[in-house]
Amino acid sequence: MHTKFDLAIIGSGGGAFAAAIRATTLGKSVVMIERGTLGGTCVNTGCVPSKVLIAAANARHVAEDAPERFPGIATKADPVDMAALIGGKQTLIESLRSEKYVDVADSYGWQVRRGDAAFAGTPDAPVLEVTKIDGSVETVEAEHYLLATGSRPWAPPIDGLDETEHLTSTTAMELTKVPESLLVLGGGYVALEQAQLFARLGTNVTMLVRSRLASKEEPDVSKALEEVFADEGIRVVRHAVPTRVSREIGGKVVVSADVASGTREFRADQVLVALGRRPVTDGLNLLAVGVNPGDTGEVVVTDQLLSSNPRIWAAGDVTGHPEFVYVAAHHGTLVAENALSHTERAVDYARLPRVTFTSPAIGAVGMTEKDVIAAGIPCDCRVLPLHHVPRALVNRDTRGFIKIVANADTREILGLTAVAKDAGELAAAGVHLLGKTIAEVADTWAPYLTMAEGIRIAAKAFTTDPSQLSCCA
Ligand SMILES: Cc1cc2nc3c(=O)[nH]c(=O)nc-3n(C[C@H](O)[C@H](O)[C@H](O)COP(=O)(O)OP(=O)(O)OC[C@H]3O[C@@H](n4cnc5c(N)ncnc54)[C@H](O)[C@@H]3O)c2cc1C
Repeated sequence: MHTKFDLAIIGSGGGAFAAAIRATTLGKSVVMIERGTLGGTCVNTGCVPSKVLIAAANARHVAEDAPERFPGIATKADPVDMAALIGGKQTLIESLRSEKYVDVADSYGWQVRRGDAAFAGTPDAPVLEVTKIDGSVETVEAEHYLLATGSRPWAPPIDGLDETEHLTSTTAMELTKVPESLLVLGGGYVALEQAQLFARLGTNVTMLVRSRLASKEEPDVSKALEEVFADEGIRVVRHAVPTRVSREIGGKVVVSADVASGTREFRADQVLVALGRRPVTDGLNLLAVGVNPGDTGEVVVTDQLLSSNPRIWAAGDVTGHPEFVYVAAHHGTLVAENALSHTERAVDYARLPRVTFTSPAIGAVGMTEKDVIAAGIPCDCRVLPLHHVPRALVNRDTRGFIKIVANADTREILGLTAVAKDAGELAAAGVHLLGKTIAEVADTWAPYLTMAEGIRIAAKAFTTDPSQLSCCA
């Protein structure tokens, strides 16, 4: 019997699941097609494995660091049993995959096909051909299609890289032995998290960074993190452009890089390439159905997430939009509503929070100072060093800051950036502060000895010298 679904979704990650849940709740028929592991990147190779390993590495770091920070505390950190750590991570992934993906799909009851999907047909009559593992091909037809095919690690052409065994974030998190030394190529959020993860597990880490750490955030962020990384023995080489990668026979990997002083060679046991990711659109036969990919292979979409074909939508990393799972999930819900209920909702990133889970973490929301100036808005901003925040003082870790960027005329808060323990929580709180005035935030409730109290103190710093503030006053 031939079935025509309301929505056919390619992929089973955060974007796909949110769309399937919303579409099913709207009473629509859904089929989801996945060629790899159900759940996609976040649960299998992204957010979950990285954060569980980072939490473990942080526990070890605290054990190593506590005697110095807290008088009277005696702890020490032994070498890591990496195989056990990776085994524990895998167990958590499997249980979350089961609970949050497999069981959820079962309980909503949409159909799941295992196979590789590609478009066939014409722009007016697109269909999907799903090639199963046994080689058989099933044709799937739907009123609407959602591309939620994600992204994969990417590197610019570097001489010798393809022929030299190297790590990606996925394979780095599968190592069963802690490498003695590691070169990390890149300075974005995946590179930063992985560099500190391995350093805290006992690896000697060097980062080669094209411009500066976290280059999309405020320069204050790069400076603060460089200091933290230097404290922890992570070497950061800025303005380094890798030109060649090779491995000595049976030995170290060698990366040649152009640096300010000329060309230099860096050696380590392993090299992790974390230079970014690219949308996965190859093999989908998009041109045949009138979907034109952009320069980096992304599906170009309108603000309602529609591609150049009025029946084909896209969500998540494949759109080339910010690569966060909560963006993918937001997209998925929005597509289901726009495609199936004609709601015409547009995606809006004005209040999108961004977090990098280093420690201290980077958390930001809204505009940076540079964004405000570029937009021609008169800018006023304050950077509050964390030694003014009581929570940081009692934590005995005052590395970092909270920065508020405001419109100098209206006093409206336009952006917040923090480098602090749990800065992600500050960014989440900041989502609700954008648009409020400095005076409103300075005058609001803030519980004493929370890091979030620092936001109120940073707002007060616009009118008062923070060193002249008493407790909560
Ligand atoms: C190391 C790392 C850490 C991260 N940490 C965080 C974090 O802390 N917080 C956060 O918000 N985000 C994080 N992210 C980003 C987040 O994981 C992604 O933004 C998100 O998972 C993307 O979801 P998606 O639905 O777009 O695609 P994906 O989850 O990548 O799913 C795409 C799926 O499509 C399938 N597919 C592709 N092509 C086909 C085809 N032709 N046929 C059938 N199936 C196909 C793939 O097999 C895959 O399963 C991290 C990413 C990485 C790599």
